[in-house]
Amino acid sequence: MTRPALDALDLEQAPEAVLAALAALRTRDAPTHGGRVLSYVYDPGVPELDELAAGAVRAMQPVNGLDPTTFGSVAALERDVVAFARDLLGGDEDTVGTVTSGGTESCLLAVQSARDTWLAERGLRPGEARPRLVAPVTVHAAFHKAAHLYGLELDLVPVASSGPSAGAVDAGVLGARLTAGPAGAADVALVVVSAPSYPHAALDPVAEVAALAADAGVPVHVDACIGGFALPFWPDLPAWDLRVPGVTSLSADLHKYAFAPKGASVLLHRDRDRQRAQYFATTRWPGYPVVNPTLLGSRSGGPLGAAWAILRALGRDGLATLAGRARRATLALGDAVSGIEGLRVVGVPAGPLLAVATDEEAAADRRVDPHLWADAVAAHGWTLQAQPGLTQGDGTRLPHTTHLTVTPVTEGVLEDLVPVLAAAADKVRGRPRPDATALLGALPPLDGGARPGAGLDSAAAAALLDAIGLGAVGEEGPDAGPGVGPMAPLLALVEALPAPFVERLLVELLARLVEPRAA
Ligand SMILES: *Cc1c(COP(=O)(O)O)cnc(C)c1O
Repeated sequence: MTRPALDALDLEQAPEAVLAALAALRTRDAPTHGGRVLSYVYDPGVPELDELAAGAVRAMQPVNGLDPTTFGSVAALERDVVAFARDLLGGDEDTVGTVTSGGTESCLLAVQSARDTWLAERGLRPGEARPRLVAPVTVHAAFHKAAHLYGLELDLVPVASSGPSAGAVDAGVLGARLTAGPAGAADVALVVVSAPSYPHAALDPVAEVAALAADAGVPVHVDACIGGFALPFWPDLPAWDLRVPGVTSLSADLHKYAFAPKGASVLLHRDRDRQRAQYFATTRWPGYPVVNPTLLGSRSGGPLGAAWAILRALGRDGLATLAGRARRATLALGDAVSGIEGLRVVGVPAGPLLAVATDEEAAADRRVDPHLWADAVAAHGWTLQAQPGLTQGDGTRLPHTTHLTVTPVTEGVLEDLVPVLAAAADKVRGRPRPDATALLGALPPLDGGARPGAGLDSAAAAALLDAIGLGAVGEEGPDAGPGVGPMAPLLALVEALPAPFVERLLVELLARLVEPRAA
């Protein structure tokens, strides 16, 4: 077959061969479907929805979301998605919103808008003051990033480390922190709470916090990135969305429990002016006038189109059915874990996720370390996510845990997964967590300075990665599979090392992964 237009290009490789190479690379990935990976991916278990999303991406991918006046489809789709989210999440006719590229971008923009509103109210410019962002320690890392990028002081409040509200912040403790500044709460630009938190699936006391914040004149963002499209269908939860007085903005990821392909989230603002503060506009250059509601300039219409198509197809009832499947699976997994000697579920999960910790009430030789457990589960072909422990500002310790994000497809694989969870626990019960001291001994004296990785250049960081056996992560090989190997020793190391130092090492690991390789 001749293909004149292609042949005229004197191609390096035929499209079929290019796609075959892509398919070969994809076979090495962790599986995105089928429920074997319990984080990162949100599988509704309905292949037709993937087809629908792919069709919508195809229809919208050439469109540039930069200019909804030129590409009116973008404006129409965004209006629909924002309206759906607003109605689902307790907004009213004054609630406005934006579709962003993901949860991180929604969180960044919420903080940027709060900071700029705070500055404008005081006649200040960025850099002239450093307001506080007050949040529980369990707030998503995207807010650490936002504080870093936008020059806010991240003021983290401890959460309950045990009991039924484990992982949730106490409203009184947060309220006291709010007014503890030199000028009371006057230096707080934003309070953030989670519905629920990613690490522990804990629902923060949104209404109580919002009431205290409103009294202090401080806006509140609810990070419902993970819960936004699932919690509306969860029974027996206290109000947590825009229905709550005092909540000023809310983020909800379409690419999580609305099952859109990656690249879509919604940020809602209760009032127009706070949303307008999120825009960037300039006419002070010799090019087209720039008006950006989000961080990007040119952006594909694909993710928006796919999210719109899936919401339109599913509607509320479809989302409710899928959330119900995820909920039943979450309850079943919670029961299964609670029935395993030596393990326990942290707190009471609000939403389709849960964290698993060691049951300290079990005798030492009957306890199960959650990271050794996750590694043993991985040997059966299932991927759980190891999370480090954390010492909070008040000295209390949040245990290291293993995270499970539960999706609708999980319900159908419970009979395979539950026995694996039990067998893996049997395999590692009584075994202590790896001791990081031996690895630490191999390292030179550490610089625990405040600057990230102060004193480590890329060569030194690479040498250290080699020393701890992580120098070759991602190298090609016949057996190269997903992941960096056992998580238990790695996470023990992460906890034992000063954060700036281990952060620098992880940067090196990831940066080297995408460096071009010698042919
Ligand atoms: C996933 C998540 C985010 C960040 O979202 P990304 O889409 O990964 O950028 C923020 N907050 C919470 C609670 C999340 O679960």
